[in-house]
Amino acid sequence: MPKLSIRDLRVEDREVLMRVDFNVPLQDGEITDDTRIEAALPSIKHLLSGGAKLVLCSHLGRPKGEPEARYSLKPVAVRLGELLEQDVFFATDCIGAEVTAKRATLGSGEVILLENTRFHAGEKVNDREFAAALAGNATVFVNDAFGTAHRAHGSTEGVTHHVEKSAMGFLIERELEFLCDKLESPERPFVVILGGAKVSDKIEVIGALLEKADALIIGGAMANTFLHAQGHRMGNSLLEADKSELALDILAKAEAKGVRILLPVDTRMTREFKEGAETKVTAPYAEGGEVGDDWEGIDIGDLAIEEFCTEIAAARTIVWNGPMGVFELNSFEKGTKEVARAVADSEALTIVGGGDSVTAVKKYNLGDSMSFISTGGGASLELLEGKELPGVAALTDV
Ligand code: AMP
Repeated sequence: MPKLSIRDLRVEDREVLMRVDFNVPLQDGEITDDTRIEAALPSIKHLLSGGAKLVLCSHLGRPKGEPEARYSLKPVAVRLGELLEQDVFFATDCIGAEVTAKRATLGSGEVILLENTRFHAGEKVNDREFAAALAGNATVFVNDAFGTAHRAHGSTEGVTHHVEKSAMGFLIERELEFLCDKLESPERPFVVILGGAKVSDKIEVIGALLEKADALIIGGAMANTFLHAQGHRMGNSLLEADKSELALDILAKAEAKGVRILLPVDTRMTREFKEGAETKVTAPYAEGGEVGDDWEGIDIGDLAIEEFCTEIAAARTIVWNGPMGVFELNSFEKGTKEVARAVADSEALTIVGGGDSVTAVKKYNLGDSMSFISTGGGASLELLEGKELPGVAALTDV
């Protein structure tokens, strides 16, 4: 169902509440990366130039439903003021009489940031009274926090019941454009690259993608689970032995649907899990390759890299979620690095989703070469699974 967009709103002289994602990393009260604040600027500037009286709210970190100084949004208000080059008022709570009074004094084009919504237990349980207090006298709500849109919290879903109109901001609009609209009838071949630690985390997304993709490339420790299920010796590799049946079931379903699943034909392994450790590539599994007892598979092998990159080069649409190995250590990064490069070099529509592949793309400075990098780990997986996000579903239909 199409949703109301920030573009469709008239906000002059109206109090607008906007949920943003200001969950920034902090060290000793200093913001170490302000990407998320920068990312929210287009929606904020759009509303301010439209004459809104703008009230911003966000969570930060994981406080336990009560105030905790180290999770205060105060430093964010300061940084936002610098970026906007205008005063940003800060409220020391997100609800209550003092905040209500302060909000009432806002003029057109002025902005206030409320304190961390998770300082109240009502936020995560989506308490009705909390949400009503947070909405306050705002008549319009904008949600631009994609990373929490898969949670029905007070500030993402609850508030929509206490305003006249709820719209998506530019960030959510773009996430939906790439993760939903563009993948509805993807240009083919549509190749999905999955990696990371666990099959069990991504089982639903695999099921959904079997309905859409032409080929699924599987790397990372996830691939170890499949290889183990096929009867290959995997030594000390990280794998989920209890998911063998599930893995074989996925392979059978893929075959029945005519979706090709590419598992690594060989594996890079180590005896020591540390930077600078010696590594060795197994013989191809088809020729009896195996990960010996003292070894563990920590990356895809060289032949696997070649095969995966050839597949990637021929694709017209690519979704990548999860690293091919333990890329955090340079000694084990080759597979992830080469796959990242192949995706970046591709002329296809390239969508990178999920925390660790985004970190990898940043590590290799390839961000500018991707069509789209999703900002939400859990939320982007749920969209790929075809699920409705509560924070989006609650917005006004058009
Ligand atoms: P996920 O959060 O499921 O995307 O998993 C990402 C993590 O999986 C990264 O921190 C990788 O280091 C780790 N990983 C990927 N491949 C392997 C592997 N073969 N063995 C152990 N850990 C791995």
